[in-house]
Amino acid sequence: MADDLPRPEPKEIDEKLSVQLRHLAEDAVLRGDPHGEEKCGNCLYYINPDDKISYCWHSKLRILVGTNWWCQWWEKISEE
Ligand code: SF4
Repeated sequence: MADDLPRPEPKEIDEKLSVQLRHLAEDAVLRGDPHGEEKCGNCLYYINPDDKISYCWHSKLRILVGTNWWCQWWEKISEE
């Protein structure tokens, strides 16, 4: 029965990744909210602006982020 199964718990790899990603987010000053008009969804590094979650290809991040998130490396998309 499902009640007899052990409760899922984070493994060592999860603790390790959690710490690594926390440091990465702190270095980027990553926030879960926009910074004025600036947000991941209108940043150069947000790979697919149509998606609510997308890959950030900034070389110091390379993680999934949300369209309304923001970090200090936000960069305007050139209109050329
Ligand atoms: S560089 Fe920063 S603001 Fe731009 S998509 Fe990546 S996390 Fe978002």
